[in-house]
Amino acid sequence: MVPPHPVLPGSVLVVENLSRLYPSGEETVTALAPFTYTFPPGLTAVVGPSGSGKSTLLNLLAGFDRPTTGRVLVDGTDLHTLSEAGRADFRLANYGFVFQNHNLITILTALENVEFPLMLAGVPPRERRERAQALLDRVGLAARASHLPSQLSGGEAQRVAIARALALGPRVLLADEPTGNLDSHTGERVLELLTGPAREGRTVILITHDRDVAALADHRLRLRDGVVTTED
Ligand code: ADP
Ligand code: MG
Repeated sequence: MVPPHPVLPGSVLVVENLSRLYPSGEETVTALAPFTYTFPPGLTAVVGPSGSGKSTLLNLLAGFDRPTTGRVLVDGTDLHTLSEAGRADFRLANYGFVFQNHNLITILTALENVEFPLMLAGVPPRERRERAQALLDRVGLAARASHLPSQLSGGEAQRVAIARALALGPRVLLADEPTGNLDSHTGERVLELLTGPAREGRTVILITHDRDVAALADHRLRLRDGVVTTED
């Protein structure tokens, strides 16, 4: 059995001199200027206008993208010292993701979507079913277990996506505009589901351009033209 990660005290996510430049013809676009930061446990909102580097930062934190300079350390492990396969395993064990669009697998039910990471982690069928059911219950969707994503509302689908992201008890939960496509009331419910893991001491990073949403976070990072400023 692979139990969910216990939450460790202190910070698990550190970036050192992290930057990302993109060549653009003769010029270079600084999508992220060199940035050193220790992400505190709890909810950190990343705010900034479109094109300011928010998704660039998230992709680097996840190890989807390779930095131009610097490194990302998760519990002391430098993501880019791992092989591609090692990084995928590491990501499965340590990260949860919530995207703007729920990214659920369309041919799987809500329950099967939540079971999916548990299956990848080798959790036996019976146990993973029970755990997935408990996770759906936690997001208030026990009654929707057998529904396909197309049979769920946008907010429900996003809640299933959060249940899936929490399935292996991630140390780091990354959410890129998870409420961007939802009305404000539905968005609030989705946000509440991200504050729970933050209170458990997980590192939850929420990209948003909504100031009201950012105001709810424990910490804020502001991005402008690739330059990060911190404000607590
Ligand atoms: P945000 O998520 O805040 O809207 P992004 O991180 O997507 O911003 O983009 C930051 C900057 O980097 C923008 O100027 C964008 O055009 C540029 N950029 C992002 N991805 C690429 C890429 N793959 N190639 C070239 N430029 C990119
Ligand atoms: Mg973006």
